[in-house]
Amino acid sequence: MRKQIVAGNWKMNTLLKDGMELAKAVEKMEKDKHSEAIVIIAPPFTHLSKIKELIESVKLGAQNCSSEPSGAFTGEVSPGMLRSAGVEYVIIGHSERRSYFSEGNEVLNKKVKLALSTGLKPIYCCGEVLGERESGQLYDVVRSQLEIGLKDLTLSDMADVVIAYEPVWAIGTGKVATPDQAQEMHSFIRGLLGGMFNAEVARNTSILYGGSCKPSNAAELFAGKDVDGGLIGGASLKADDFIAIVNAI
Ligand code: PEP
Repeated sequence: MRKQIVAGNWKMNTLLKDGMELAKAVEKMEKDKHSEAIVIIAPPFTHLSKIKELIESVKLGAQNCSSEPSGAFTGEVSPGMLRSAGVEYVIIGHSERRSYFSEGNEVLNKKVKLALSTGLKPIYCCGEVLGERESGQLYDVVRSQLEIGLKDLTLSDMADVVIAYEPVWAIGTGKVATPDQAQEMHSFIRGLLGGMFNAEVARNTSILYGGSCKPSNAAELFAGKDVDGGLIGGASLKADDFIAIVNAI
């Protein structure tokens, strides 16, 4: 059975003290509630090891990792460093990394493979920009993001991979995909995984929706039969909102 997951991507927000308060609040709410879903927070790198000490029910994620294991790569953070700070999940290929930092599918594939070989669970992001949706290219774009980004992964690797479908036009814009648009693409992705790997991988891989998800729209988005939770940006910065989204599962 695939897992339901809600992951909070804090992006470049919160100073250490605020981040620690936010993590404590999410942990307390999640501990009291004990939800069935896996709840993940992905704070900035600088907060990870401090926050690791504050959470137990909530899992720790990072927002990015290097495609290289170590060496002269100034400013980079390797998967091994993340593991040593207690990180379990890592977001790879977020649209902001793709567009602002020119990360293409090939380098993302290197990151996914290195993360997996280091014991991290990648949350691999895909999604089309508005023009690609409007010109009908959305399925081709998502197909190549998955075919290249997950190239050469084994069936057992796939047990540790989570997919996040995030239509870029819905990220941080307040424009949310309709539940039908989300379900349609999730179903397409699941079919694609079936062809790339096998039916069991397709059935067992969690596929999260991301893009302006908030307490008021989470339940209808998560109702799609192929929608296994969400990757949450803005609304993960308020513990009440984030937990309300978790409760919508
Ligand atoms: C994200 O950045 O992954 C995201 C989904 O952002 P938001 O929820 O703010 O649209």
